[in-house]
Amino acid sequence: MQNDIRRTVLIVDDELINREMLGYIVSEDYSVMYAENGKQALDILKNGDKISLVLLDLIMPEMDGFELLDIIHNDDELKRIPVIVLTSEKTAEVKSLQHGAADFIPKPYDMPDVIRARVMRSIELAEDNNIIRATEFDTLTGLYTREFFLEYAREFDEFNPDMSKDLFVININRFHLVNELYGREFGNKILAMIAEHLKAITAEHRGIACRYEADIFYIYSKSQEKCEELLNEHIKMLENDKDGSKISLRIGIYRNVDKNIDIEQRIDRAVSAEKTIHNNYKTAFAFYDTKLHEHEVYSEKLLLELDRAISENQFKVYYQPKYDITNNEPKLCSAEALIRWQHPEYGMISPGVFIPLFEENGCIKRIDSFVWNKVAEQIKKWQGRYSRTIPVSVNVSRIDICDPELESELLSIVKNNEIDISSMFLEITESAYSEDSDMILETVKRLRDDGFKVEMDDFGSGYSSLNMLTEMPIDVLKLDMKFIRNICTNEKDRRMMELMIDIADFLNVPVVAEGVEHKEQYELLKKSGCDIIQGYYFSKPVPLEEFDKIVEKELM
Ligand code: C2E
Ligand code: CA
Ligand code: CA
Repeated sequence: MQNDIRRTVLIVDDELINREMLGYIVSEDYSVMYAENGKQALDILKNGDKISLVLLDLIMPEMDGFELLDIIHNDDELKRIPVIVLTSEKTAEVKSLQHGAADFIPKPYDMPDVIRARVMRSIELAEDNNIIRATEFDTLTGLYTREFFLEYAREFDEFNPDMSKDLFVININRFHLVNELYGREFGNKILAMIAEHLKAITAEHRGIACRYEADIFYIYSKSQEKCEELLNEHIKMLENDKDGSKISLRIGIYRNVDKNIDIEQRIDRAVSAEKTIHNNYKTAFAFYDTKLHEHEVYSEKLLLELDRAISENQFKVYYQPKYDITNNEPKLCSAEALIRWQHPEYGMISPGVFIPLFEENGCIKRIDSFVWNKVAEQIKKWQGRYSRTIPVSVNVSRIDICDPELESELLSIVKNNEIDISSMFLEITESAYSEDSDMILETVKRLRDDGFKVEMDDFGSGYSSLNMLTEMPIDVLKLDMKFIRNICTNEKDRRMMELMIDIADFLNVPVVAEGVEHKEQYELLKKSGCDIIQGYYFSKPVPLEEFDKIVEKELM
């Protein structure tokens, strides 16, 4: 037995003497309940008492054994309970097996050991089966579980090798919020509802469906000419439902799957299509296509080449000067270090392409460490050459901030290069603060206590509340470029810019405007009280040699 809970056997027989004899035999190993006919037995079974096995007489008043067998066999819950039929007729044995009996025991009961052994074996078999069932089907939705889905998908291919197939990944937008707002029970209801639609789809169009995890479902089915129409019909029904109207779905579709790659990879492709869709308020579809495939291959290649690129010096640090505009003449005051990848095959790759990739993959720290070291080295060199400190801002990715080693690493970089701790500014994007704000605030506070200057990058793009800002340990606000773009043509953007400069005043920190390209923008910013300017108006980010020339010109 799988554990030592005492199980209960239900004995159903209209003759008292039979009930007593059987009860006597099985009560050694089991608790026993009794019923005098099928009707009584059904009441007990439905009553919720956990019955592990039924010993069932066939000929009884009110409801006979066959009738009860049929009811048990056709009931989703009850059919898991094995039934052993008690009979003295050979012909009835076959008939009872056909009606779903697990076994039979011949009357009279003259071999108690045989009876006990049969009862035990039937219970064990049924329990093993139930365990298998429990993992084959997701208990909440009745769909296949992930493992069985993968297995059956392979079988589906094996039995239908020439059939072309589609793979769908279905994800619910903001499902955690659905749970939070309406409760878990409601969330579960939604999941079950979606599952019912998926069952209908796969029944109609040949296929299988599973719940992969929480709110993610897969379908693997026969290819349809217009496969989104196949889903659309059901999505409409879902959206028209009072409860269903509270959700929207993201659906990634890999059509006509390549059978040469394994099923997991096919799923990955549908998932990468799904990932191109953002949290919409309406259900949306995306297809995996050759463009997406090429992009994936390209990304994968870049990821694989990271080590070599570092060791072969393919990464270059560019510098973009920042100018202090608080006096009459703009004056070079610092620079931002921006990385570039000089790729032997693809040419110059912009950080906008590879930074998100390495962030997602967790390797961003390697690149950032590289930049921080280069920059610290450079600050030291300039000090030697010009006898003055040129502070440089480096970007600290939101991923870096979660790294417990960050502080010690930055400290040792500064120490090893013998530069002043306040000459390497740290730019942290505003949106990082909203992720795990307590943890980030803690880290930023420590870095500032050490002496680092912290700039809030892309200010205005995130969702910092005024309240949060006053608690934020920062030294500089750097306005998001998108506000600067139209300050001269769009009244609202100009007001926004002025408002943000007011906020900086209130916080008593200087403001940097980046992305300044034109004289008019520069003049307006200067008039509005902006302190520092970075942008193509003065200079693009340039390689070190060119930046050196800018410094030298400035010093003369
Ligand atoms: P960011 O930190 O906001 O950097 C400013 C971006 O604006 C840079 O793009 C810069 O070249 C660009 N820019 C500066 N002035 C102007 C202008 O007047 N007009 C226009 N249109 N653009 C201007 P870049 O170098 O392509 O970098 C993009 C982003 O990649 C950066 O945005 C930053 O988030 C990230 N990044 C760059 N280097 C690093 C790095 O070393 N580490 C990390 N973690 N991220 C980096
Ligand atoms: Ca930056
Ligand atoms: Ca920025």
